[in-house]
Amino acid sequence: MKVPFYDYTHTFLSNEKAIVDLFVAVGRRGGYIMQKELQEFEEALATYTGAEYAVGVGNATDAMEMFLMASGIQPGDEVIVCSHTMVATASAVRMAGAEPIPVDVASDGLMDVESARRAISAKTRAIMPTQLNGRTLDMRPIMALAEEHGLMLFEDSAQGLGSKFQGRSAGTFGIAGCLSFYPAKTLGCFGDGGAILCSDAGLYERLMWMRDHGRGADGDVHLWGRNSRLDNVQAAILHHFLRSFDEVVARRRALATLYCERLHHCPALQLPPAPDADDDHFDSYQNFEMLCDNRDGLKQALAADGIGTIVQWGGKGLHQFEKLEMGRDLPATDRWFEKCLMLPMNMSVSDEQAHAVADAVLNFYA
Ligand SMILES: *Cc1c(COP(=O)(O)O)cnc(C)c1O
Repeated sequence: MKVPFYDYTHTFLSNEKAIVDLFVAVGRRGGYIMQKELQEFEEALATYTGAEYAVGVGNATDAMEMFLMASGIQPGDEVIVCSHTMVATASAVRMAGAEPIPVDVASDGLMDVESARRAISAKTRAIMPTQLNGRTLDMRPIMALAEEHGLMLFEDSAQGLGSKFQGRSAGTFGIAGCLSFYPAKTLGCFGDGGAILCSDAGLYERLMWMRDHGRGADGDVHLWGRNSRLDNVQAAILHHFLRSFDEVVARRRALATLYCERLHHCPALQLPPAPDADDDHFDSYQNFEMLCDNRDGLKQALAADGIGTIVQWGGKGLHQFEKLEMGRDLPATDRWFEKCLMLPMNMSVSDEQAHAVADAVLNFYA
């Protein structure tokens, strides 16, 4: 049985009529930029996440760049990030003028707080963990660390929508967090899209100006801005999918449970925490990333069976992109990238397919 890693036609084809109807409704009114659909989606997103404010923007990378700049991050500042993240986390820091400082991963692949503590220097201004794979970090020690050293706290929660720690949504712990609506994300649109979550009214106002050339509703230009607006038609479609998003999260958790039940006895594997592993974490499984012995052998064997897998970020942490010169000694992340692999985890995967994936993995190690 073939199981593609991700099927980019699935969301559209299984919702074609609803999506076309939304496009027709927006198109017939000519409502393309910053119209009521965007405003309604922003309100719904704030309500869903429990954030005070949500701002629709062009993508999650712009979101980070803008909230860093609007919060006063400047050239000469250092921002601590986790090495196991998309290059976008670091590039946003760089494009905002500051230096990204990558640190090591803990056993669940998210930022290791002690490694973050060791990376603090006189120039450190902020810390921005990544809520990776649809899992929100235990934020208590990170918040305590930020508090202790007077650092600003941001979140790269591009993969975090739907996930919570102690009932609080990813992206709502610090000054601001980002969301990505890239098609393969848990809430994907049909192109690029993103959002900022924040709680401060002044920051919210600056971000609303900043995404639209610095312009305010009063017609004045309040600051230097850019053009990074979430398209109105994408907002209409995203709002439609947000209404049933809890079902998406439930389905992903069911798939994760299936994988964990089938695979947890296999000594060659270290699985991500199962959905019921503890009461504090509520994971939305953007990805199902595991560590495995003979990773490349397993990947090849699964490919021969028609099963798609991916090694995240092309197999490198931030500190391993030599041309970007963020190199430092991060042994836990080095070990992670020797063994990590992601199994198919999305709405097109049936139970039958997930069992076929588990069979193939167990078969490889038998
Ligand atoms: C997808 C992703 C981004 C970038 O999101 P875009 O919307 O494509 O800019 C940033 N960080 C992480 C962890 C991501 O997974």
